[in-house]
Amino acid sequence: MTGKQRKNLIRIIVAVVLTVLAAIFAPDGWLGLLLYLLPYVVVGADIVFDAVTGIFRGRFLDEKFLMAVATIGAFAIGEYLEAVAVMLFFQVGELFESIAVGKSRRNIMALMNIRPDKASVLRQGEEFEVSPEEVKVGEKIVVRPGERIPLDGMVAEGTSSVDTSALTGESLPADISVGDKVISGTVNLSGVITVEVQSEYSESTVARVLELVQNASSKKARTENFITRFARVYTPCVVAGATLLAVVPPLVFSQDFGEWLHRGLVFLAVSCPCALVISVPLSFFGGIGRASKEGILIKGSGFMESLARTKQVVFDKTGTLTEGRFSVSQIHPVGIAEDELLRLAAFAESSSLHPIARSVVAAYDGEIDTTLITQMQEHSGRGVEALVKGQRIYAGNRDFIEKVAEMPRISATGTVVHVAKENEYLGYITLADSIKPHAKEAVAQLRALGVRKTVMLTGDREDTARRVGEELQIDEVYAQLLPEDKVAAVERMIPECSPLVFVGDGINDAPVLTRSDVGVAMGALGSDVAIEAADVVLMDDKLSKLPRAIDISRRTMAIVRQNIVFALGIKGLVLILGAFGIVGMWAAIFADVGVMILAILNAMRTLAQKSK
Ligand code: ADP
Ligand code: MG
Repeated sequence: MTGKQRKNLIRIIVAVVLTVLAAIFAPDGWLGLLLYLLPYVVVGADIVFDAVTGIFRGRFLDEKFLMAVATIGAFAIGEYLEAVAVMLFFQVGELFESIAVGKSRRNIMALMNIRPDKASVLRQGEEFEVSPEEVKVGEKIVVRPGERIPLDGMVAEGTSSVDTSALTGESLPADISVGDKVISGTVNLSGVITVEVQSEYSESTVARVLELVQNASSKKARTENFITRFARVYTPCVVAGATLLAVVPPLVFSQDFGEWLHRGLVFLAVSCPCALVISVPLSFFGGIGRASKEGILIKGSGFMESLARTKQVVFDKTGTLTEGRFSVSQIHPVGIAEDELLRLAAFAESSSLHPIARSVVAAYDGEIDTTLITQMQEHSGRGVEALVKGQRIYAGNRDFIEKVAEMPRISATGTVVHVAKENEYLGYITLADSIKPHAKEAVAQLRALGVRKTVMLTGDREDTARRVGEELQIDEVYAQLLPEDKVAAVERMIPECSPLVFVGDGINDAPVLTRSDVGVAMGALGSDVAIEAADVVLMDDKLSKLPRAIDISRRTMAIVRQNIVFALGIKGLVLILGAFGIVGMWAAIFADVGVMILAILNAMRTLAQKSK
């Protein structure tokens, strides 16, 4: 509890004691009123004060104003105990709300406890402890076992293993040694390593992830917007109802004024939509927090809502359904040596991030002298070109190479990279990719969750695409698509069956990620593009995270719905019964504060939901 919360708790306790004493000893008349005013002032003076100053600032009908009117009205008709009780419970509710919201916030912060607080930087052979923001690109930092890696970079010395669980939710440690990339926010487990920093803190993975989780509001759920709009009309309507109830029957039908004023005050006490206004955002907040703990970052409650209703899932192939780590299976040179072909391809591909490029580079075991390579140009979904020692080298698919060189007919299977120098065809390299473990299971799980259609889009060749599609039992497969064809395909599919979820690896599919209802980027650890473009980010490359994300979204939506039905149901009931004089102030207090507390408790379940 914070200092302010403790102070409020003490105030409430003092007021309760005073109220009990008043209830026992208060005589009728003025003295009784004074005895009840004592606890009222203790617990409610600030509310009345805020209500009055609120009016001068143009805030009518805010909850404090309503509480002040309801309680002062109750005093006016001689219902002292009820007046004090309404104010007391209102404060209990406020206190509870601030504790609950604070607790969820802290829980999420603890879940996302990945912010590094220091970096040990090496400067002129000496180690300095500085904050991560002060380290520049190119500097070396030392990370000891048990420490959180503060910045993204490359291992320059040492071997160790890292625990990525804080980011991915997976606890399997990964081994690292010289030349491997390390990611900020992960924990160094076994050895001392020196890391060459590759990006500033503000650009680092950990900073991006934290920003994303804290600002997970880019798109609000329709439910959330509905509640905001509803709250805006609900309160004025109830207040109008209260006024009519207090004024019309006594004036028109000459009924007892005191009785109807009392019924009007019952209305005022339930006029606050707090239960909804607080619990609905809190539920989404908890659901988003829960998902982040498992390495699923959702950028707003709107995407949770769409995920929960998903009817169609479209996958990119390479790096999403398949590993994207190709092994070179064959090299077919034309007129040059095998290793020369591989060397030229690796040089041309050296700065591309495409999985094919990375695999070609990995298959080449010589040094790559990057000073020999200039004018590298990536042709998205086709290939690359670059000047290698002054000669123009092309590497890419058939469509791409055909434009520059005469090509023979070939009958290769698998993914093929053709290579040309200027306008001379040099041969091709075939690559084999393997399907991700659990990919088939994940597709089946999606179907079990009610996804009607699964689709695969790929820029790869027809035969490879068919094989993967059949193996995974994907409903529809479209091959040989350029990135813009993928966008067109998704645009065509959205009206047929939505919400449409697109899952990609963030490499040259950013336009599709943006265009689909929910763009999911996987294996995003360390890929900035994907984190920017996607609506949902799966930190590691496990496809099973997708059904899990849908599952969490559904459960969160269920809790939101329960709260809406429950809160509106009880309030509606109390309004009706109150209008007929069947229930009084105590029921109103329950409908207001009790419902709010129950709704908040229910909302907090979203954070705790376990996987099946
Ligand atoms: P996918 O849809 O499977 O993710 P892409 O759209 O990234 O595939 O690429 C489509 C095709 O373009 C690849 O199958 C490959 O033939 C070719 N290609 C793209 N980038 C490269 C590259 N850097 N090197 C070689 N070929 C490439
Ligand atoms: Mg791709």
